[in-house]
Amino acid sequence: MTLFRLWLAAALLFSLVLAACATAPITGRRQLVLVSDGQAAQMGINAYQQIKTETQVSRDRRMTRVVQRVGKRIAAVSGQPNLPWEFTLFRDLNPNAFALPGGKVGVNEGLFKVVKDEHQLAAVMAHEVAHVLARHSAERVSQQVLVQAGLAGAQAMGGPESQQWMGLAAQAATLGIILPYSRTQESEADEIGLTYMARAGYDPRAAVEVWRNFNAIGGSRPPEFLSTHPAPASRIQNIQAKLPGPLQIYLNNPNKVN
Ligand SMILES: [Zn+2]
Repeated sequence: MTLFRLWLAAALLFSLVLAACATAPITGRRQLVLVSDGQAAQMGINAYQQIKTETQVSRDRRMTRVVQRVGKRIAAVSGQPNLPWEFTLFRDLNPNAFALPGGKVGVNEGLFKVVKDEHQLAAVMAHEVAHVLARHSAERVSQQVLVQAGLAGAQAMGGPESQQWMGLAAQAATLGIILPYSRTQESEADEIGLTYMARAGYDPRAAVEVWRNFNAIGGSRPPEFLSTHPAPASRIQNIQAKLPGPLQIYLNNPNKVN
């Protein structure tokens, strides 16, 4: 009987997964997304409001202008120009940036220690915009929902099979689902970002320069942006491998940014 219930749970999960398939832009990767765009956007907007109450917004007008200009150009070519995009420069010296569903992108003042020109800033911001368009937050939330559902299901079943099932779910949470997926998403954001840069008139080769700069300031304890992202060396290799297509788009773009 317990085996039958296990089968039933697996079948239910399978149909849920089939019903919730999404596709990432540019790469065409199939994704599991269990939350709607509207739900994800609301979560993003709430989190952004929270961050704004905790971190001061920059008073540097020159840097703020550049962030706004780059953000607008990239959002315009992202395929979703009508999201309520918001680009905020925060008064924080960590060289970091982040993105939330609903088109909310934050850049720290400290990033300007690493990016040497507008193209390099565009590389980081295009990467962040790519996270939004590829629904990466919703995807991570969905993975967690599945893991929780698996754990709850296992607890409900009881018996020795339940122990096995829970062990598997926990393993999946730490190894199989959350960590590697996150790496996949980072590489995907890099790849999509190159195309957005090129369409917006920024030289996608600047993405390689940014990661060389990050590498140079890395030291023994890397900044936050590095620690949550793939190692710079493999990252540069991946970017270089994806560069030819976007570079062609850039070279053919009549509206290049100087
Ligand atoms: Zn990222």
